[in-house]
Amino acid sequence: MTTDHTVDPTLQSWVSSANDARADFPIQNLPFGIFRRAGSRESPRVGVAIGDRILDISACFAAGLLGAPDLNDGDDIETNVQRAARACASPTLNALMQCGGAPRRALRSAISALLASDAPVNQQQIAEHALVAQHDAELFLPAQIGDYTDFYASVHHASNVGALFRPDSPLLPNYKWVPIGYHGRSSSIVLSGTPVQRPSGQRLAVGESVPTVGPSRALDYEVELGAFVGTGSALGTSISLANAEAHLFGLCLLNDWSARDIQSWEYQPLGPFLAKNFATSISPWVVTLEALAPFRAPLAARADGDPTPLPYLDDANDRAHGGVAITVELWMRTARMRADGNDPVRISSSSALDLYWTLGQMLAHHASGGCNMRAGDLLGTGTISGPSAESRGCLLEITRRGADPLTLPNGDVRRFLEDGDEVVLRAFAEREGAVRIGFGECGGVVLAAE
Ligand code: MN
Repeated sequence: MTTDHTVDPTLQSWVSSANDARADFPIQNLPFGIFRRAGSRESPRVGVAIGDRILDISACFAAGLLGAPDLNDGDDIETNVQRAARACASPTLNALMQCGGAPRRALRSAISALLASDAPVNQQQIAEHALVAQHDAELFLPAQIGDYTDFYASVHHASNVGALFRPDSPLLPNYKWVPIGYHGRSSSIVLSGTPVQRPSGQRLAVGESVPTVGPSRALDYEVELGAFVGTGSALGTSISLANAEAHLFGLCLLNDWSARDIQSWEYQPLGPFLAKNFATSISPWVVTLEALAPFRAPLAARADGDPTPLPYLDDANDRAHGGVAITVELWMRTARMRADGNDPVRISSSSALDLYWTLGQMLAHHASGGCNMRAGDLLGTGTISGPSAESRGCLLEITRRGADPLTLPNGDVRRFLEDGDEVVLRAFAEREGAVRIGFGECGGVVLAAE
């Protein structure tokens, strides 16, 4: 993964809020999402977050800022920028995803030039009319998600959870050979901000031998990243690890809400079902691999004695740069904290470099049997936990299934989530010599069961 001029740390924008050192959306980020003006009946369309604004790509294209929009068929060959910009009139990112890497990078480069401080003043004046304040915008799910797969790529999460249920053998023998995952439910993926209703279901109380039906008593979050597939692959074909990232569009935040009591009763032998299909939350902004290029690094070293990945999961470039140095944080605010005017408090902070498998390995493995991938398919990493106590990415791990309750600064105690709890994921990437970029937020409040 090579870096280009769009991540040059000296770049500044004429959108002044983008130049704040703590801004999630500086000019080096330029994440894609779907928006319209709040309260309007406009068609949802592609926007790019810049500072506290959204740049309307279709409006820029119509104004001639991204190449001429009115090519006649056969007269001229559409450029990559024009092709990608035209795809931005769509109410999902799928059309832009399908364009592939070269048009996406060309559009990103043109948007960067348009928003840079040294853009021609007359272009800045036109583009200013294509900016919408984020607080005046309604955001939508970024893509039509055809298929959703959630992996289990954190060896620390797998070990911590395994130890609760199988103290003698926390990791199953396949874990270090095969990226474990399950097929999730795409139609219950909701946008950040959507309240999440506590599910009811069958759960077996401790010491009981007969299950009862009722509201989950062990609702949890899972801190994850999601990766959107850009260009797909045909049924019956695989994707090599060397080529896997060329099929990815970008990353978002993902909360895989989980009802642990339902899960522990139902998951054997086929894996999660109703414990996870009631809701999955994702963030509105998709950060492209181009924006993440300065933050690529190897994953944390595997333990001595761990197996070498099988050839289809091994690639020199992926070994050297397959990880992404993204810090993911979980913030929580209870109903009482909200009523008292308290801000959310940070519960955990973990790094995507502590995953055991790279995104490329997950995608290559997914397609290795000939499973087709399509634009807009979503891959979740699985709960991102690290080796330290502060880096546990779900309450199941933090409270050891409720045995060690968590006490919040205001005295509220949690084993699992209670109604009214607000859960917010945040993430950022930073390193010396690069401008910090963020993912915004992925939040949701727990509502009482139906
Ligand atoms: Mn998960």
